[in-house]
Amino acid sequence: AGQLPGGNINVDENIFPLLPPLLRGHPDVHLRNGVMNASRSADPDAENAFFVADLSQVYRQHLRWQACLPEIQPFYAVKCNPDPYVLRLLAALGTGFDCASNGEISQILDIGVDPSRIIYANPCKAVSFVRNAGKVGVSCMTFDNEDELYKIARAHPGAQLVVRILADDSKSVCAFNIKFGAALATVPGLLAKAKELNLDVVGVSFHVGSGCYDPSVYTDAVMRAKTAFDMGTEAGYQFSLLDVGGGFEDALFEQAATFLTDAIATYFSDRRGIKVIAEPGRFYVSKAFSLATNIIARRAPSADAGPTNENSEAQPDRPSVMYYINDGVYGAFNCILFDHQTVHPYVLSMGGSFHVASSEPVANSSVWGPTCDSIDCVCPATQLPGALRVGDWLGFDGMGAYTVCAASQFNGFAVSRVIYTTGGFGATALEVRRELAKFAMADRHGL
Ligand code: PLP
Repeated sequence: AGQLPGGNINVDENIFPLLPPLLRGHPDVHLRNGVMNASRSADPDAENAFFVADLSQVYRQHLRWQACLPEIQPFYAVKCNPDPYVLRLLAALGTGFDCASNGEISQILDIGVDPSRIIYANPCKAVSFVRNAGKVGVSCMTFDNEDELYKIARAHPGAQLVVRILADDSKSVCAFNIKFGAALATVPGLLAKAKELNLDVVGVSFHVGSGCYDPSVYTDAVMRAKTAFDMGTEAGYQFSLLDVGGGFEDALFEQAATFLTDAIATYFSDRRGIKVIAEPGRFYVSKAFSLATNIIARRAPSADAGPTNENSEAQPDRPSVMYYINDGVYGAFNCILFDHQTVHPYVLSMGGSFHVASSEPVANSSVWGPTCDSIDCVCPATQLPGALRVGDWLGFDGMGAYTVCAASQFNGFAVSRVIYTTGGFGATALEVRRELAKFAMADRHGL
């Protein structure tokens, strides 16, 4: 059986005490000399695409969060990647959780998290879901409209409410204002209605949009939140919760943290009695998952056919080599459609050996998913070595956010499974690639 690469490169020792209880009972995982190994021997088909989740990367992001935003408690946005081991790790590290549905709430409660560590951060909920939240002890929930207040008054009158306000989302890859958020002008009316219904409003939340590429927008959002706090005081409430939402991009995280810290210091200079939380999703998981895919088919101009080759004749602009891999936009690569991502393949193995980048000839290529739909294009134009063949492996990094959570089984293709590591590799991108390739090839050759 292939073994998940072990070794002890870059493993943070502090994570080890947490892992055995987190992973106990997982059929594919065992710990050897403190390093987690996974056996894929049960895999009936060694060509299957698979994720490798490096849990130590999630842990490193948590350390980064604590170092940069020590005053802000993260409530991980479960929707981003509800992987059971990511959730258990974060639960053990003490984060809270942002849930958006009954299903997410029960997933978190089932791993033993206290309901007080959950914020039900969906401003538009089914009334039965609101009632269920009350039944299971989740009291903190967001709202942004009057109808929601009537529902909550009926189904969960003891809830602690957080008014979600609009924030500038124009600097984010995924904007939310079109669907959620109360304009500041409407907040006094909403708070008056909440008072009339005898509801407890405890604070304010916003979301600058997911994948925020200009973190200066946090400054304006915090300023708006302060205005909403003042409106709360006017309405007779004493707010105690500020929720600064998600949107944190890995590469801009430190900048975002500085903008947030400064804005909170400016607008909430006296924040005694105020708890500040956030709802980060992609920041925690994006880099922790890589995907290995197998080339299952290839369409290339035949050497003999020359310029009369049927493909080039039919569509001269088509990249000369088309690769078909065993995950696509109906699976893990749904992030291309729903999360506006572009992905970049690299060669993991070629001709049964590790791929070491060299000056080998490359060809204009495109990469396609396995389904029968032509929208299933993973990468319309890229350069890949001309010597790539069916059976070789392509890798993709940064596949942890908004991927596996929304994957479908369209056309009967299974969702790629996840294999876990505590970071036996991960020091450099090259090490990740080599180890993924080793793993992929071990399976391919049934070693
Ligand atoms: N909070 C809410 C209410 C969201 O809708 C989302 C994303 O959709 C998040 C948090 C997480 O955002 P991100 O992954 O950008 O941190």
